[in-house]
Amino acid sequence: MFAVDDLHDALVSRLGAELVVVDRGPYARDDGAEGPYMPGLVLRPRERAEVVEVVALCLAHRIPLSPRGAGTGTVGGCLADHGGVVLDLAELDAILDIDESSLLATVEPGVITARLQAAAEAVGLFYPPDPASLKKCSIGGNVATNAGGPRACKYGVTGAFVLGLDVITGGGEALALGHRSIKGVTGYDLVSLLVGSEGTLAVTTACTLRLLPKPSATLTLLAAFPDEAAACEGVQRCLRGGLSPAALEFADRTCAAVLRANGGLAVPLPDEAGALLWLELDGDEAGLDAALERAAARCREAGALTVEVARDPATCEQLWDVRRALSYSLRARWPRKISEDVAVPIGRLPELAAAARAIGSRHRLDTASFGHAGDGNLHVNFLYDPSSAADVEERVGKAVGELFAATIALGGTLSGEHGIGLSKRPYMPLEQPAALRDLQLAIKRAWDPDRLLNPGKIFP
Ligand SMILES: Cc1cc2nc3c(=O)[nH]c(=O)nc-3n(C[C@H](O)[C@H](O)[C@H](O)COP(=O)(O)OP(=O)(O)OC[C@H]3O[C@@H](n4cnc5c(N)ncnc54)[C@H](O)[C@@H]3O)c2cc1C
Repeated sequence: MFAVDDLHDALVSRLGAELVVVDRGPYARDDGAEGPYMPGLVLRPRERAEVVEVVALCLAHRIPLSPRGAGTGTVGGCLADHGGVVLDLAELDAILDIDESSLLATVEPGVITARLQAAAEAVGLFYPPDPASLKKCSIGGNVATNAGGPRACKYGVTGAFVLGLDVITGGGEALALGHRSIKGVTGYDLVSLLVGSEGTLAVTTACTLRLLPKPSATLTLLAAFPDEAAACEGVQRCLRGGLSPAALEFADRTCAAVLRANGGLAVPLPDEAGALLWLELDGDEAGLDAALERAAARCREAGALTVEVARDPATCEQLWDVRRALSYSLRARWPRKISEDVAVPIGRLPELAAAARAIGSRHRLDTASFGHAGDGNLHVNFLYDPSSAADVEERVGKAVGELFAATIALGGTLSGEHGIGLSKRPYMPLEQPAALRDLQLAIKRAWDPDRLLNPGKIFP
């Protein structure tokens, strides 16, 4: 039996009552389908020293702890399914330094991703990772999930930008990992181990991130295709056609129909649109027109019905806002949406898109797929009304299992960016054998000997 009340009293006497968040309700869920799991205690530290104390006291009282950033995760990673402590890091939100000469940012974990991007851009620099949730999610959560986004196509995911991390391990040790130089191979790459570890090994309290020079020009292209196969062909042609798009995003016919019905897209969408591609091109202004012509030509060769171009920042942003809001647009139309995050080698994308649709129709479920075509990562959504039929949840469960099996058969992976958390934990053996899981659990024991941090997440 966890003595949460004892822990509460010890914390209040050492750190003050302001640390304790009274309304625990909002912490019972993240943005996915898991929960509700009401935490025993929610703590909101204001500085690193308080995180150190909280970890030490949780260890002393043997109460598990789940780090939480902005709670936009979709797999239950930040939920206290064990009833222990949720450690809300939102108030550790200082941009500690932007070092223009070394192209580095040092930030606390609660900094919202879009805020860091804006701060970098204000001095002519660029932080590319752009998860669709960027206006809400935090850098700490991005690091813990190794978040991607459309621009991963050209620039890579969050991990490609993390040089150093200050952390408190599950054993209560405060460590500085990594370096501030772009290169560095001293010892094992523990920064990479921590990136994507979903809060199971350590709590991050500061991140040193690499920045790039900001491209001088950017434009966005929206191409409408008659069907999904043609759009996938467009992806192939764009990637092999001497182009290096910053982003290349796909949406299937369900998404195209929802967007058409919603209206409000800054560019016209033909009635026959059965799939869409968004392309972002960036670089030197001088070379961009040639790249644009090549991209438009590649899309037309693949059968595009229309290719619309946006050059002014406001229209580009509007087109990307619509893409980023797709998840919410689907949620507004179907009472329930189970969203998966599978990834395959880019060349297998057409097969994955076709498999997702076939699985949905085999189980009589509406299906919508969209996502990061440029890196083979597709968000496959099964959409339904839970009250529509007694067996609908069972059919969804089967569809999810079949989607994962099809993904693995295509050489893919269960999660491209959202992580495993609670939701995908049962499927881990599909992708990783026991020996591999055991090796990772041994690593967990070294970092978190008392199973303090997010116990039971990721591994079944
Ligand atoms: C509409 C929408 C669009 C999305 N689009 C994308 C996308 O394009 N790409 C993408 O990758 N994801 C996307 N996501 C998922 C989500 O936004 C990301 O996983 C994001 O990185 C989570 O950040 P967060 O701050 O909300 O973390 P949380 O949800 O609070 O936590 C996520 C995980 O990180 C751990 N964690 C958080 N902070 C710390 C810390 N300081 N130290 C240690 N562990 C920590 C938690 O324990 C948990 O396991 C989307 C979500 C939504 C709702």
